[in-house]
Amino acid sequence: MFKPFELECISCGEKYKTGNFYNCIKCGGILNVKYNQSKYKLKNNQLIVDNSIQGLWSYKEYLPINNENNICSLAEGHTPLIKSKISEISGNLFFKDETRNPTGSFKDRPTTVSISKAIENKCKGVVAASSGNAGIATAAYAAVAKLPAIIFVPENLPNEKLLQASIYGAKIIKVRGDYSSSFELAKKVALEYNYANLTSTYYNPYGLEGDKTIAFEMYNQLGHLVPDFIIIPIGAGPLLTGIYKGYLDLKEMNLIEKLPKMIGVQAKGCSPIVKAFKENNKNVEPWNHVNTIASGISDPLKGYDQDGTYTLNIIKGSGGYAISVSDEEIIDSVFSLGNGQGIFVEPTSATVFCGYKQLRKSELIKKDDLTVSIITGIGFKDTKPLYKFIGKIPIVEASLMEFDSLNILENE
Ligand SMILES: *Cc1c(COP(=O)(O)O)cnc(C)c1O
Ligand SMILES: [Zn+2]
Repeated sequence: MFKPFELECISCGEKYKTGNFYNCIKCGGILNVKYNQSKYKLKNNQLIVDNSIQGLWSYKEYLPINNENNICSLAEGHTPLIKSKISEISGNLFFKDETRNPTGSFKDRPTTVSISKAIENKCKGVVAASSGNAGIATAAYAAVAKLPAIIFVPENLPNEKLLQASIYGAKIIKVRGDYSSSFELAKKVALEYNYANLTSTYYNPYGLEGDKTIAFEMYNQLGHLVPDFIIIPIGAGPLLTGIYKGYLDLKEMNLIEKLPKMIGVQAKGCSPIVKAFKENNKNVEPWNHVNTIASGISDPLKGYDQDGTYTLNIIKGSGGYAISVSDEEIIDSVFSLGNGQGIFVEPTSATVFCGYKQLRKSELIKKDDLTVSIITGIGFKDTKPLYKFIGKIPIVEASLMEFDSLNILENE
């Protein structure tokens, strides 16, 4: 395992030694983990995977930890990549199923890295502002690390997400307002009390390093082919940027030649990045009235709109697109993924299938284009928007006559 070269500000280029840093002290810009490239190691000209380690730390050669004893892991990552079997639309589509992670979402990846780094930096406890899944992951990993955890969440968080974080033993605090208010308070509390801030926006620079392992896994799962397109639901966008960073690393190591086009999907009721993309604005502006069932990406970016601008530039630089989808389409896609693929997703994660259909229709993605949709979170986490769509469930006596009267075998 090697040390990160340093943290580098993406705006002014200022460099910092690794430590409890968040935004650039000089200009407030986003910090990025930069490795000393000459130290990138390969074995037989391939990525080094330590198969004695469960979870994404098998890629430890490429992760920013100095001492292995500081790793806090729940065997996250190494999720399956599954070919689409949905008959409604055929194409060269795969799903990277992140619902299989220990807490049910990809957020376990950024969290395992940022908490391990927090342990290495000897923090007293951890905080996170979260629209749900990052707080849940923080709570679970903090439980294993035996660190106190405080999670700040928006008022309207789905009950299942509150429940799950509580089971892991974190202290949960609702903050009036949308996600941006939680973000603000987490920042203040962490700085005041010397807790590490694991908020999974770009604020904590280590999270992205966990996200990038998705690219490494897909590189091996696709027999070294690079997808033409990768479709991802985006809040502020670190997942998208982290995966892209992984592909940039692979290119830097001369393992691949081309890069994937990145597609960010937002919900119509909260789509600041899509708006800037469509209007060709240089900067992303905060969103005012959040109104969507996609709770995991309801991120209005108030107070850190630079995060959105960073993501916008990554998308554009990759030659990709930012698109938005409606709540009705999202519900439809929850069912498509359920009864077409056997995957139960939370509404936020269904956006990627809506996005695929939209881009196939407009022919920006062709049938043969190798496309991966990242399935970010499991359906049990956010069920309320779905109940009114499942129809009435009949109840009968244990009699064949009553069963027959239901006429559910109408095609026989
Ligand atoms: C956090 C989250 C996202 C968005 O990820 P960002 O890195 O914040 O853009 C997408 N889907 C789910 C289920 C999430 O929890
Ligand atoms: Zn700076």
